Amino acid sequence: MISALMPTYNRADLAFERGEGVWLYTADGRRFLDFGAGIATSSLGHNHPHLVAAIAEQAARVIHVSNLYRIPQAERLAARLVEASFADTAFFCNSGAEANEGVVKIIRRAQHESGHPERYRVICFEGAFHGRTLAMISATGNPKYLKGFEPAVDGFDHVPFNNLNALRDAITPQTAGILIEPVQGEGGIRTGDPQFLRDLRATCDEFGLILGMDEVQCGMGRTGRLFAHEWAAVAPDVMSVAKGIAGGFPMGAILAREHVARHLVAGTHASTFGGNPLACAAANAVLDVMLAPGFLDGVDRRARVLWRGLEQLVADFPDVFEEPRGTGLLVGLKCVVPNTDVQAAFTEQGLLSVIAGENVVRLAPPLIVEDAEIAQALAMMRRGAQHCRPAAARVAAK
Ligand SMILES: *Cc1c(COP(=O)(O)O)cnc(C)c1O
Repeated sequence: MISALMPTYNRADLAFERGEGVWLYTADGRRFLDFGAGIATSSLGHNHPHLVAAIAEQAARVIHVSNLYRIPQAERLAARLVEASFADTAFFCNSGAEANEGVVKIIRRAQHESGHPERYRVICFEGAFHGRTLAMISATGNPKYLKGFEPAVDGFDHVPFNNLNALRDAITPQTAGILIEPVQGEGGIRTGDPQFLRDLRATCDEFGLILGMDEVQCGMGRTGRLFAHEWAAVAPDVMSVAKGIAGGFPMGAILAREHVARHLVAGTHASTFGGNPLACAAANAVLDVMLAPGFLDGVDRRARVLWRGLEQLVADFPDVFEEPRGTGLLVGLKCVVPNTDVQAAFTEQGLLSVIAGENVVRLAPPLIVEDAEIAQALAMMRRGAQHCRPAAARVAAK
């Protein structure tokens, strides 16, 4: 018989009762170092006092009013995101997929309203992940997510990641824009080559295309900059963010330049819950922490500590790991043995991780992780890796 909770997930048999910083506790008293952060979402860890207080205080005042009215919390959040980014304006919604839907709507609408109704197609990349709505499984393009949900939504083309010639070859008179994750998350923590990102910008300018970026996973401080594209010194025209934006409270956002966003006039796009006072109070509290002087530099510094340890780990266990990859605190360990075995071994040691494509184990700790916790995680990974060594190597090592 089907479970009451629809069985769409492969859940680990763990249920957490509470969390504190980087730690999660089960009801039976076990504790786990949370290097998955709910898939790069619990950006400030668990039970962060500033975030908890902001949510509690706002909940006691008013949770929801609707976008029929002004929402000062949303106005403030938008102004701060605009101030801290390439964007001129922000739209708030509730998830990554919803934000990406809005990005594609802006791309199509801006072309349509600037005299190019024939330009409606968006070029996406192999290994991408953009969410689970009908349009976004088509943008993602991975047959695994599309199977049985066909027909695919028309208007998405796919080319290899980090390959400019293939991208340029795929441009047709119907192409409206490009959608790229500066660091691919689900696809296996693959970092976009900074030169490739700059070439995409130049190509968009050359052909009059709109450059969209999906920073749902790699944005909001995850890489040690507020947004991952900053590492390439390049800016999109429109971008989605979500996951870490409100520290685990459900929220998404579209950040855009005026020249594309001005075509979404009143009545063209909306979201009932989007940017409600509670979500915006949470996101403002997250920004209080992330934009405090030195915070992002600290993320970058601690990420380098983690990377040094991971490079050593891979060097010491070449029969288990191939390489660390990614940017900042969005890291993938590409495995030689099955990634699910490695993840299970890590969990056994008390370390939570998330798998990703290309046989990768993903590490995305809360951005507030400290050096001592990184050292603990590395020790757990070393012990876990011992158990993952192919049998022959274990015998030889004795
Ligand atoms: C998680 C993710 C999404 C989808 O976000 P949801 O909130 O699950 O809809 C989209 N793009 C990227 C890059 C993601 O990592």
